Amino acid sequence: MRTEKGVRLLFQKSPAIDRPTAVWTDIAQVVLPYTYFSDVEVTSAVSLYDTVRRGTPLAVSEDPSGPVLSSVTGAVSSERVVAHPLYGELRCAVIDCLPAEPDPELPAPQADPFTAEEICEAAEWAHIIDELDGVPLANKLRDWQQHGCHYLVADAVQVQPYESSAWAILRDYAEQVTEGLSLAALAAGAKRHHIAVCLSGQRRRSLALRVGKDGLYQTDSYYPTAELVRVSHKGGKHTVSPKETVGRIGPQACWALYRALYYHEPHDRCVLTVAGDAVRDPQNVMVPFGTTVQEVLSRCGLKQDPSYLILGEMMTGTTAPTQDIPILPGMTCVLAFTETAIRSVQPRNCIGCGRCAQVCHQGLLPFEIARRFGNMHYERLGQLEAASCDSCGACSYVCPCGIDLTSIVAEARSTDSTILLEMEDDPDA
Ligand code: SF4
Ligand code: SF4
Repeated sequence: MRTEKGVRLLFQKSPAIDRPTAVWTDIAQVVLPYTYFSDVEVTSAVSLYDTVRRGTPLAVSEDPSGPVLSSVTGAVSSERVVAHPLYGELRCAVIDCLPAEPDPELPAPQADPFTAEEICEAAEWAHIIDELDGVPLANKLRDWQQHGCHYLVADAVQVQPYESSAWAILRDYAEQVTEGLSLAALAAGAKRHHIAVCLSGQRRRSLALRVGKDGLYQTDSYYPTAELVRVSHKGGKHTVSPKETVGRIGPQACWALYRALYYHEPHDRCVLTVAGDAVRDPQNVMVPFGTTVQEVLSRCGLKQDPSYLILGEMMTGTTAPTQDIPILPGMTCVLAFTETAIRSVQPRNCIGCGRCAQVCHQGLLPFEIARRFGNMHYERLGQLEAASCDSCGACSYVCPCGIDLTSIVAEARSTDSTILLEMEDDPDA
């Protein structure tokens, strides 16, 4: 299986977007790390053959967001170190699941006036991690409280060519996502909020009926050029002034916040899109964290062994060398492609449209870096500051010629640093 970034794909959300979400609670085994964060010290709280219940911490730590909660009830059968493409090296407990108990009958939620602190505490207790950036929601809320957030946007603009998991959670739980967003806005101190989408007419209309027109904002394009709010001095619906700050939260995090506050549920599952031309039955699925990619793909069926496996989401996700990887917070799709699907989009020569430079949030000139690198003008790369590229993938995504700029800039970056190292090592330099 090949590993690279910046793979360009056709825009193809069907058929997964049209199908109901499959809810899989009968998972045989999960692989869960003791913590997601490499900079947090945790001590394992479970031993081999221990039985753990859903919602109990697998570790202890001084950092409240450090330990991971078990997403299932089951027995610890072994321990494993996983090289996770999004999180790095993780020490994990392997848990053989006991048959899942049926979800209890949930009481109708009471309209409780929660305080900002209660909301932050619930986000912390439930270990909610925002799928947009992998940051604990409690940390984001407290940060907004401290530094200000005028407008909070639930970002459901589905940026990826194949992904529809944000739509799936809105279709199934629009009211709960909306209420979760209101609670997050209250905790963040944001006076206004809405859900940003980029949906076809029928889907948008059905959603607007449920969340209200004021609660929904249709962007005019997909990321990275999409504006999640209108910026204007004049004011009006869905508008911020240039001086106001906008916070961004994932719709799954909003849903998890609602469930934590009203039903006391931990954040232990997610919706992800399983798609790609190697997948027999593309669909959105809800699975407990720790379910392996292998199990997800085998349940959806594979037409043939994939040549590319893309995890996470398309802009910041990455290709994975193996299927033996657990689904963890922040992963909203698993895409499996054959060589044919990737080869069918052939790159062409740069036409100088400048879009890659427009979208680069580091202010780089990706096309120029690629040109100098291609022409082997290494000595002139330094001025272009390729080293500040963080491989976000935006330039590759927008390039109309299908040029994999992200990979080229990454190569140029390493070339650049090699040259600098050689110069530093040279006593005569
Ligand atoms: S991948 Fe690098 S060069 Fe391309 S847009 Fe992102 S930061 Fe800029
Ligand atoms: S987006 Fe692609 S075609 Fe346009 S300038 Fe950049 S590299 Fe060239």
